[in-house]
Amino acid sequence: MFGVLSESFKTAVNKLRFADDDKALKNALETLKKALLKADVHHKVTKELLQRVEAHTKQAGIGQEAFLNAIKHSLAEILTAPGNQGFVYTSKPPTVVLMSGLQGSGKTTTTVKLGTYLKLRKKKVLIAACDLQRLAAVEQLKQLCAQHELDLFYDESGSDPVDVAKKALEKAKSGLYDVLLVDTAGRLAIDEALMAQIKAVHKAIAPHEVFYVADALSGQDAVKTAASFHEALGITGVVLSKYDGDTKGGVALGIAHQVGVPLRFIGVGEKAADLEAFLPERIVGRIMG
Ligand code: GDP
Repeated sequence: MFGVLSESFKTAVNKLRFADDDKALKNALETLKKALLKADVHHKVTKELLQRVEAHTKQAGIGQEAFLNAIKHSLAEILTAPGNQGFVYTSKPPTVVLMSGLQGSGKTTTTVKLGTYLKLRKKKVLIAACDLQRLAAVEQLKQLCAQHELDLFYDESGSDPVDVAKKALEKAKSGLYDVLLVDTAGRLAIDEALMAQIKAVHKAIAPHEVFYVADALSGQDAVKTAASFHEALGITGVVLSKYDGDTKGGVALGIAHQVGVPLRFIGVGEKAADLEAFLPERIVGRIMG
């Protein structure tokens, strides 16, 4: 997943193999910079990361080990934003998660993936079909939930997502579910009607978490739309879908830092099992080997 970055980081660390002066550090930092920019890490994030690596290395005394530790440390700092990591359950179930995102971002698929992820962890999960905008959305969820044996709440006659969400919450409570995942309508672009609708659903069910599903293939646009949703709705986490696509990885590295909320999961394929928790320390370990 971060193969190219890992290799480039190793090359950068090697620059300090036979020299441990300012010039060698500058050289190593330059190699690191090129690798980050090549991986599509935003230039501001790259700059911030390099400043941190330089400061940490100098503090410890220039050398290969200090530089390696500085990269690990700085990466962890950049990847971490205030808030939860992975999936966090409330002490009093059900944990309610509002799923938001633009149309086509992978929101519905991600809801099913998250349901599958939780079911594998022995949780009782209910999915609420509150995307009443797109005619096929409820049908898509019905099929996917049947296929993966997930419980779905939908209201064939319902036309108000707020009403459906409220009923789903009642069912989640009375049915002693651990988690309720609420799928909502997406639009091709952010618009006021979309925001007003999702805000109304938010108000009605007071979710513990608001996840924003962003398409990794949209690059820096994923960061921008996540930031707009955060401003409007107060998201608590980002899920980056389609990470298996032709992405160089940079968006995942910068999103927490740029949006100010943690990246919680990454989608790595179209199947229900293709979802991974994004835990900063684990990712740093994977990048640095
Ligand atoms: P929604 O409109 O946001 O609900 O989008 P969908 O959930 O219907 O997904 C749109 C398309 O993206 C579908 O063809 C999904 O199979 C695909 N998709 C979603 N997540 C991923 C992922 O992580 N990797 C890949 N390769 N495709 C994905």
